Amino acid sequence: MSMATTQPTTAPLPSFALTPDLITIRDWAHEFAARVIRPAAAEWDEREETPWPILQEAAKIGLYGFEFVHTSYGEESGLTMPLVNEEIFWGDAGIGLSIFGSQLACAGIFAAATPEQMIEWMPRCFGTPDDIKLGAFAITEPNSGSDVGSLRTRARREGNDWIIDGTKCFITNGGIADVHVVVATVDPSLGHRGQATFVIEKGTPGLSQGAKHRKLGIRASHTAEVVLDGVRVPMANLLGGLEKLEERLAKAPVPANSGGNGSAPRGTSAALRTLEMSRPSVGAQAVGIARAAHEFALEYATTRSQFGRPIITNQAISFLLADMAVEIDAARLLCWRAAWMGRQGHTFARAEGSMAKLKAGEVANWVTDQAISILGGWGYVRDYPVQRWHRDAKIYTIFEGTREIQRRVIARALSNGASEPA
Ligand SMILES: Cc1cc2nc3c(=O)[nH]c(=O)nc-3n(C[C@H](O)[C@H](O)[C@H](O)COP(=O)(O)OP(=O)(O)OC[C@H]3O[C@@H](n4cnc5c(N)ncnc54)[C@H](O)[C@@H]3O)c2cc1C
Repeated sequence: MSMATTQPTTAPLPSFALTPDLITIRDWAHEFAARVIRPAAAEWDEREETPWPILQEAAKIGLYGFEFVHTSYGEESGLTMPLVNEEIFWGDAGIGLSIFGSQLACAGIFAAATPEQMIEWMPRCFGTPDDIKLGAFAITEPNSGSDVGSLRTRARREGNDWIIDGTKCFITNGGIADVHVVVATVDPSLGHRGQATFVIEKGTPGLSQGAKHRKLGIRASHTAEVVLDGVRVPMANLLGGLEKLEERLAKAPVPANSGGNGSAPRGTSAALRTLEMSRPSVGAQAVGIARAAHEFALEYATTRSQFGRPIITNQAISFLLADMAVEIDAARLLCWRAAWMGRQGHTFARAEGSMAKLKAGEVANWVTDQAISILGGWGYVRDYPVQRWHRDAKIYTIFEGTREIQRRVIARALSNGASEPA
């Protein structure tokens, strides 16, 4: 009988000692988060609108822009993105997602496009500091969420054009983006292997925003339906090109089971590869929220007195704060490990990307919940930010693969597919 291995990754372990350059970039992001983002967080949460003035400031300092994404992903440790994400989301998750939402579109292009298409389309997801643009990455549909392979937005070839029809929902920057990166099916019988990714420019006839979703948290980030009604795009907008698509369709076996939103099984689709790539940074966002709540609760516990002494002198409170710190550090290390592995080209053989995202999401939810308790009634009212952090944290168990889907991915990786349902 062969035993499934439960040993840690065989990839060599990295040093996480931050170089002077990484410390500089982390502190630069923190300064922006503390000075610009944190003070504006409550206002934009209430307004439930894209914080354009903050995007402009982020673009001016070089935080919002293609150049930043390019150099950050190129940096050799892989830690730039997790570090910057943690700081920015420490400032505010809704505003953070407005700043980083276009990156998902960029990742969608990166996963599917030819080098020429990348050069053309990736910068257009950001524009310039004087003329900011947004990108959106649209996979999810009303009847296809976790089960990405079942999506029904249809792309039909008509001569040298493609006609796209369907409805997407829950799309970050949906409808307001200048570049929509849309995953559609060319052959629904082939599941995710029959899918292709298209770029659609703002203003293309038939592309429109549907309902804007009113949300529990990350409310400064725009989330909406995207309606595609006979959208015609030229062949050049098919990412990867026709030849590659036809090759894939010819080779594609009938799917036994698609991976699920956020998983990247054997012979992965571009949509799933996109989610895989972004996981360590998404996890780091959740770590940033958790850290914000922990710092706030720690400070509060040292200054709030009941029964004649600070509440932190009760072991129930101090041990809780200790556990919160342990969990946050554990989550951060998983994110850094996955980011480092991704940058070095190691495959996530034990689903290390999903481990990072799962742990960080759970920690952010637990820590923000406990922080509310430490603040008592003040934790529950909107005068204090802790309730907002809890509302924001919840999304990290849902988007980019739900907590259940992450567990499914990890279980399948550990059991070499044996845990996958028929
Ligand atoms: C604010 C926000 C922003 C988003 N941004 C984007 C975006 O930019 N682009 C985009 O394409 N999508 C986006 N999404 C969509 C998001 O990725 C999906 O909501 C998510 O993948 C879950 O899909 P669903 O909502 O259809 O839930 P479902 O897939 O219907 O799942 C419902 C429940 O069933 C569970 N479940 C489903 N299948 C299984 C299974 N096999 N085993 C165990 N449990 C299972 C799920 O874990 C979940 O608990 C966003 C969502 C939100 C809320």
